[in-house]
Amino acid sequence: MPCDGAATHDLDVTMTSPAPDDVVIDLRDVVKEYPGDPPTRVLHGVDLIVRQRELLAIVGPSGSGKSTLLHIIGTLDRPTSGEVRIAGYDVARLADRQLSALRAREIGFVFQQFFLLPGMSAADNVADGLLYTGRRLRDRRARAGEALERVGLGHRLDYNTEKLSGGERQRVAIARALVGEPSVVLADEPTGNLDSRSGDAIVALLHELNRDGSTIVVITHDHDIAASLPRQVAMRDGLIESDVSHDARQPRETTGGMTR
Ligand code: ADP
Repeated sequence: MPCDGAATHDLDVTMTSPAPDDVVIDLRDVVKEYPGDPPTRVLHGVDLIVRQRELLAIVGPSGSGKSTLLHIIGTLDRPTSGEVRIAGYDVARLADRQLSALRAREIGFVFQQFFLLPGMSAADNVADGLLYTGRRLRDRRARAGEALERVGLGHRLDYNTEKLSGGERQRVAIARALVGEPSVVLADEPTGNLDSRSGDAIVALLHELNRDGSTIVVITHDHDIAASLPRQVAMRDGLIESDVSHDARQPRETTGGMTR
């Protein structure tokens, strides 16, 4: 779990202003190669635009490049070539410290393994998601309480997370991802460690949070989960194979596997 306490002011002082539109993720011709002789190319030129308030799946079989793409969108890794803009910021122009600030402020992460801090209450785990803001503990706790209410855990604030069920733990992780009001939440196989009933409840929660305004990208190999979301971006062999939107409010042109 990237949790790096970087000063958020770094972004404001030294970076050019983001574009004044509603594009949250903007990838252009993104290529990723891992070193070797010869190098292994795992992304072959990916174009992807995600706008505010979208809820979509990036879906594909194992090895298709989903995790690599998630790392690039999450600014945990840089592309070999191509452009990456997150919340309007051109990632290539940022130093590592600025990238940490961008990540802390603009991106919420949810992982299959939850990555909660053991021995701490649900509220403290969620309040931890606000460390980078420099807010006082009392304020962080109050906001954590509100976020836990939003995910249906208002009655579990003081519970040690080790006493919670898997589904409840994932709700805590989602609250932690949301508490800082990031531009986008990246959920990597969020139901992967849950039984089907708890998994369905998490997917329903993601829908609800999206209806309330959150932008959410779900990375999954599960076609049923992908099909339940308004947009499915299908990956194969390091390329976007198709990009289908079922939401009439978000018409989309798909040309040769590329989305603009
Ligand atoms: P997915 O998440 O869809 O399973 P990945 O993005 O993890 O796919 O992997 C895509 C391809 O890149 C796979 O063939 C994988 O073996 C390869 N790959 C991933 N990481 C590395 C690495 N560090 N070095 C070399 N190849 C890698």
